[in-house]
Amino acid sequence: MSAAWPRPRLVVSACLELEACRYNGQSIRARIVPRLEPYVELVRVCPEVGIGLGVPRPPVRLVSAGDLPRLVQPATGRDVTGDMASFAASWLGGVGEVDGFLLKSRSPSCGPRDVKVYSEGGIPRNEKVPGMFAAAVAERFPLAALEDEGRLTNYRLRHLFLTRLFLGARFRSLPATAGALVSFHASNKLLLLAHSEPWLRELGRLVASVSRLGPEEVKRRYAEGFARALSRPAGPGPLVNALQHAAGHFSRVLTPAEKRLFTDTLTALREGRGSMEGPGALVRSWTARYGNQWVAEQSLFDSYPSALHDLSDSGGSTQAA
Ligand code: SF4
Repeated sequence: MSAAWPRPRLVVSACLELEACRYNGQSIRARIVPRLEPYVELVRVCPEVGIGLGVPRPPVRLVSAGDLPRLVQPATGRDVTGDMASFAASWLGGVGEVDGFLLKSRSPSCGPRDVKVYSEGGIPRNEKVPGMFAAAVAERFPLAALEDEGRLTNYRLRHLFLTRLFLGARFRSLPATAGALVSFHASNKLLLLAHSEPWLRELGRLVASVSRLGPEEVKRRYAEGFARALSRPAGPGPLVNALQHAAGHFSRVLTPAEKRLFTDTLTALREGRGSMEGPGALVRSWTARYGNQWVAEQSLFDSYPSALHDLSDSGGSTQAA
């Protein structure tokens, strides 16, 4: 793909490295935020400061008696549910186009998932939900990449988030023309194959129907399908399948030793001992040596700026929301 990446618009919880706006007057370390800063347009938000709670402030929490959780400040007895709902509607309504949200984990306002809910008596209930602002984000921007800083320490989730963020921004910047849509789909075929073969076929049919539906409608539907196809990290089996497709373009020129080396990297990937980086680097080296424009342009091997590639991995869950 092209080396020129658009700058995605990324909304970030302001307490992640940017402002000391937490309830205790501190900020949170999140290494990925300063790393992303040169490559994205950061839009910061602190919903709790936005509703006038001030810094420092007594903490808020989600409280439920089995119904919809309310956002309350136990130390003062204030119920700020209505304030937060109004703030979220107005702020999200005015923020404009957004490619992704990077929000603070487990916050009753910003946490995208796994936020504790308490009973009226202050006992943690046996349920986890999104924070109030994050729930409004998911409803208003269902196609945007949405993650918290904690999950992005996992390699596969970070890779998926960055892929969605940068390819989403690239797609948004495309003109709604048949040529642009066909070309985008062509360069994402292996990525889609690695994530979802049914969506690869469905999106192929969609771009082929541009003369019937019109390019604006195809672009709108494609954005939705593309986001759904990339809603989870690629599994090892489909990823290996997509890499084998790429290698097939070089099968006549590779030596038996080169093929064995490639197979070893695929085995490591399938068995969880290696990442996509190993076989991906081999395919890129063949592309450079033998030349193959179709493979060279595949986003599977280039889905965000190379300076953001980082193999560090905390392990843990890769379950998508
Ligand atoms: S988690 Fe959200 S509401 Fe809480 S301090 Fe951070 S930005 Fe503000």
